[in-house]
Amino acid sequence: MSWEYKVGDFLVLRKKHPCGSFRWQVLRVGSDIRLLCTACSRMVTLPRQDLERRIRAVEKNDPTP
Ligand SMILES: [Zn+2]
Repeated sequence: MSWEYKVGDFLVLRKKHPCGSFRWQVLRVGSDIRLLCTACSRMVTLPRQDLERRIRAVEKNDPTP
């Protein structure tokens, strides 16, 4: 399954971070994806393929008009 997301969007992952959060913000998109935990502000970098297997949902961070 392929997901569409960009910098600033939020990802809900299947696996819980040790801090208890499932929600991450996308900081950088490339062959590796950099994520910021929205609860504890820890940053992780994951290969895109590994990450996409773990995504449960994408929440778009669209600017309000
Ligand atoms: Zn965390």
